[in-house]
Parts: sequence; structure tokens; C-alpha cells
Amino acid sequence: MKNYDVLILGAGASGLMLAGNLNKKIKNALIDTNEKPAKKLKISGGGKCNITNVSVDINNFDGDEALLASAFQKFSKENLLDFLDRNRVELELRKGRYYFCKHSSDDIINVLKKNAKNSEIILNNTVLHVTKEDDELFYVKTDKGLYKAKKVVVATGGKSFQTLGASDIGLQIAKSFDLSVKEFTPALVGLTVQKEQFWMKELSGLSCYVHVKVAGKTLKEEMLFAHKGISGPAILSTSLYWKKGEISIDFLPNENIIDLTQNSKKLVSSVIPLPKRLAKALLKAVGVNDKECTKLNKQDKELLKALHNYTFAPAGNFGFTKAEVSRGGVLAEELDVNTLESKKIKDLYFIGEVVDITGELGGYNFQWAFSSAYTCAKAIK
Ligand SMILES: Cc1cc2nc3c(=O)[nH]c(=O)nc-3n(C[C@H](O)[C@H](O)[C@H](O)COP(=O)(O)OP(=O)(O)OC[C@H]3O[C@@H](n4cnc5c(N)ncnc54)[C@H](O)[C@@H]3O)c2cc1C
Repeated sequence: MKNYDVLILGAGASGLMLAGNLNKKIKNALIDTNEKPAKKLKISGGGKCNITNVSVDINNFDGDEALLASAFQKFSKENLLDFLDRNRVELELRKGRYYFCKHSSDDIINVLKKNAKNSEIILNNTVLHVTKEDDELFYVKTDKGLYKAKKVVVATGGKSFQTLGASDIGLQIAKSFDLSVKEFTPALVGLTVQKEQFWMKELSGLSCYVHVKVAGKTLKEEMLFAHKGISGPAILSTSLYWKKGEISIDFLPNENIIDLTQNSKKLVSSVIPLPKRLAKALLKAVGVNDKECTKLNKQDKELLKALHNYTFAPAGNFGFTKAEVSRGGVLAEELDVNTLESKKIKDLYFIGEVVDITGELGGYNFQWAFSSAYTCAKAIK
């Protein structure tokens, strides 16, 4: 049985970043179920992963503020950009906000692997469970063998996209040590709609810029109408905060429908600056017949205001197979904010998506994965 100072479970974004920042004298290994490290990072952002955002704020996350603030203070967006720049990874800014790889997410994977060259990478090993024995050592059992270590870092991510090796083993390990967890649920995922909103499914393929209000947040991005319901960046971020109940969409956030229809001889659907098919469907949804603007009566005008505040309760979401992340994880209160070590179990750490911290769409989840990894790496002596 091989003996390590540190075993890192999961060779994804956070596991690799941690390995690269450990003191070189620490004998460590990464264990992953896949035949290659960082499979999720590779396919994310259409193969060019959205690595971070121009503005990284704790308000862009669902999770414990102290934990987030501590990790970002130790490894900020600027630190991440600087790290990538020093390693000659070229990035491009999209929509003035999102940092993507200019060429391919392989550029980042290669840098992470190069940085982690002191670490052994054990692939094709599925972690089954972890125990801690009287000798104070951890025993990590995989489907291929048993490994022993003084410290274990759980970096096994969330359980969405199981085809890429994702699992909830991190939560199983936490629970086996009596740590409190919030079960994973799909997030950054499309939403299904109830019968009253089935009209949205008929617009499949169309998209528009909207403001969505959900649980006290306003998300400003594109939404996409899909066969199964609604999707696109605005809705994916909405799914992070929506548990049940109503959301409200402003379909014309940069306009005023009353001003648009004022004294116009055109049809209402023609003055709405949206694709005609969408404009017509929206009019039907708010109960206004498409007619010449001058013929709108007082009641029509009242109904039209709903275009700025179309309120409805989604039915559910598209599930783990489509979700970019899993909401939930090991509760923040179980972890030391400065080290991410379990308060109950000495030498057991949790980083990345397995922690109950989830970001909106826009590079926030990689930023958290890297910031939490760095925080933990620097705490391991
Ligand atoms: C399609 C898609 C697109 C995304 N796009 C973006 C994006 O553009 N920007 C962004 O910020 N975030 C994005 N994300 C989210 C981001 O990929 C994750 O939040 C991030 O990878 C989490 O890092 P992690 O290290 O915690 O987990 P991961 O990177 O998922 O790494 C966990 C590792 O643990 C391994 N593992 C799991 N179970 C076991 C087991 N039992 N035994 C051994 N190994 C195991 C996995 O194989 C994996 O390699 C996307 C996710 C998906 C699915």
C-alpha cells in the first residue's frame, strides 16, 4: 500500500490547482476516476472555458460569505489572471465581462498539469470510501486499490454531468465522517414550464435580452426559448436562486411599452423591438389583441405593462444531465474559513464544488474552484 503526505481526491479544476500550489516537499497524489484529468474543464464554455469574470463579488454566489471572502482575499480574480498571464495562456473578453480561453481550454489544463508536475496522478481509480484509523492515517479505498495518507483533500466536485465522471462521493465521504451536508440539486440549468407557459416552448430557438427577478436578485442577460422550456444565461443563473414559486421577466428592460405604443399607427407587434413571432406570442400571453397602437384602450395598456413584469412559476428544471453545476455540498459551518479543513476531522479538507458554494453563470465556479484550492494548498504544511 502506497503512503502519501496528502491524497487529493479528484483531478479536476480545484484538485489540479491545489496540487500545483502545495509545498514541493509534500509527497502527494491526485486520484481520479477518469482516464484523463479535468474532463469538465475541457468541455466547459464550448471547449474554451469561461474561467473568470471582470467582476467577482460574493453577491454572484449562493453560499457562505465569510468562506467566499476569505478565499477571494487569498486568491482573487487578479491573482488568477496574473497566474494565467505568467503561464502565457491567452484569454479573450466576451461581452465585456466573461474571460474565455482565446484558443482552447487545453491551454489551462496544460498549465495546471505542468504546475502539478511534482504530484503523482493516479487515473482510472474510482474512490469508494475513506476511513481514518487509530494511527491517525486516512485509508482511501478505490475500485483498484487502497492508498494511505496523512491528509486528504476532497476535490470531487458536484454530481452533474455524470458522463464526465461526476459523482456525489464527496458528500458520501463527508457524511461518513458525520459532517453536515446539503444534498446536491441541479443548478445553472434550464427550467421547465407549466401548462400556462407552454407557448414558450413553441418559440424554441428564439432568444432575447431580459431582466429576470428571482428571490430578491435581478439577473440581466439573454434568455433562450427551448423545446423543453427556457434556458440561456439569464435563466441558468436564475436556476441558482429559484427553489420554487414565482419568477418575473422583463422582456423589454431597455424600453417602455407605453412610450413605444404612443401615437403609433403601426400594429403593437410591429413596435415591440423583438422578433415578430415572440412579440405576437407575448401579446397573447398578456391578453392583448394585436391591433393598431392608437386603438389600444386603457385596459389594454394596463395589460401591456405585464411585458415588463411577466410573472409565473416554473415547473422544475432540466435535471443533472444538463446542469452545469450542483447546488449544495458540505456546509460552510463544517469548515475552517482560512484553511477549508473540517472542524471536526483533523487533516480532512474540502475544496471546489463539493463545498456548499455555487456561483452564477459567468466564470464564477472556476474562480471559486481555484480560490478555494489555493487557500487550502497554502494551509497545508
Ligand atoms: C457543461 C459544463 C460547462 C461548464 N462551464 C463552466 C464555465 O464556463 N465556467 C465556470 O466557471 N464553470 C463552468 N462549469 C462548472 C465547472 O466545471 C465546475 O464548477 C468546476 O469544474 C468545479 O471544479 P471541481 O474541481 O470542484 O470539480 P471538477 O472539475 O468536476 O473535478 C472533480 C473531479 O473529481 C473526479 N471524481 C468524481 N467522483 C470521483 C470518484 N468517485 N473517484 C475518483 N474521482 C472522482 C471527477 O472525475 C473530476 O475529475 C461547467 C460545468 C459543466 C458541466
